Amino acid sequence: MKNIYLDYAATAPCDPEVVKEMEPYFFKKFGNASSLHAYGQEAKKALEDSRQTTAEFLGAKSEEVIFTSGGTESDNNVIFGVAGALESKGNHIITSAIEHHAIIEPCKVLEKKGFKVTYLGVDQDGVVSPDDVKKAITDQTILISIMQANNEIGTIQPISQIGKIAKEKGVCFHTDAVQTVGHIPVNVDDLNVDLLSLSAHKFYGPKGVGALYIRKGTRIGRFLCGGDQEKGRRASTHNISGIVGLAKAIELCAKGMDNETKFLLSLRDKLIKEIPKTIPEVRLNGHPNQRLPNNVNFSIKYIEGESILLSLDMLGIAASTGSACTSSSLEPSHVLLSIGLDHATAHGSLRISMGRWTKESDVNYLLENLPKVVEKLRAMSPLYEKK
Ligand code: PLP
Repeated sequence: MKNIYLDYAATAPCDPEVVKEMEPYFFKKFGNASSLHAYGQEAKKALEDSRQTTAEFLGAKSEEVIFTSGGTESDNNVIFGVAGALESKGNHIITSAIEHHAIIEPCKVLEKKGFKVTYLGVDQDGVVSPDDVKKAITDQTILISIMQANNEIGTIQPISQIGKIAKEKGVCFHTDAVQTVGHIPVNVDDLNVDLLSLSAHKFYGPKGVGALYIRKGTRIGRFLCGGDQEKGRRASTHNISGIVGLAKAIELCAKGMDNETKFLLSLRDKLIKEIPKTIPEVRLNGHPNQRLPNNVNFSIKYIEGESILLSLDMLGIAASTGSACTSSSLEPSHVLLSIGLDHATAHGSLRISMGRWTKESDVNYLLENLPKVVEKLRAMSPLYEKK
């Protein structure tokens, strides 16, 4: 049986070089980075070296990076932390309707507490208009949070332009870069951002560790209270092995990203070109070219995404419908509804996301089998009439 993983946007395997780098920090170098003895100092050095690597990669200063437990914590910290720090200044937040739940859910919590949140709509390709952002800003706006690229449809947003507007208006600007770090260039100055979230498991690092970039001078409250780790900005004993793994994963991406991206782009564009040739009535979701190099998302009319997934799984192909978080729920994805799909079309979506170990033969195997799967499922669908 084949074993083809095409769900890298959900999570990626940990690079063996990352695992090797982490290994000593479980037993030999297990110290607590806050301890004063040699064990502690050894851990502290690893922590600060990792911070330096991460900061350099983002074009940031070392003291502007804190380590977290992942993308969700970084995102939650931004929404609750900025709201808490600036509530005397204003109570309005601008975000988009297609953000990850790690942004949308904290915004909903704040709405219940009296904050106003504008969820900007997107066009049919999933793009947020910088002009809409500009128009939505009021004298009460304290934060704008727009993701750099969407996890379902791969659309890359005009972050640098939106950041320029935020800067001109003096509003704090955050981007969720969980899907972009390690895949496309991410530089905090080029993007004009004050805050940026990232997560190691999306770029071949371990799960349960991430980082938050906080531009010097940005006002943001603490998320986890307790000890004074991360200069009092995030309590809890440092996850040194995870942090070392995150930094090693970043180092590997810095070295190999250009070539990797070129190859993934060729696979992505092959799928985008070939799928509509062999399967009638499909719709490419997301922007045709302003999209992540590893993301393909099609709506395949008249059938359910879940049925496609299960049939592909039986052939040894792992893909996704909607995002990893929504694929277990019966609700159609909020992202697909936001780009204008009706419920039925949104339910028939298939996300294929590739990565470091995807081979051209994997893509060919999918191209060979997907049309057969679709034909079989459509033959059973009461909605489908062959033309
Ligand atoms: N933001 C985006 C865009 C994501 O894709 C994800 C994970 O799928 C997250 C945030 C949450 O990250 P984590 O799994 O590290 O909590």
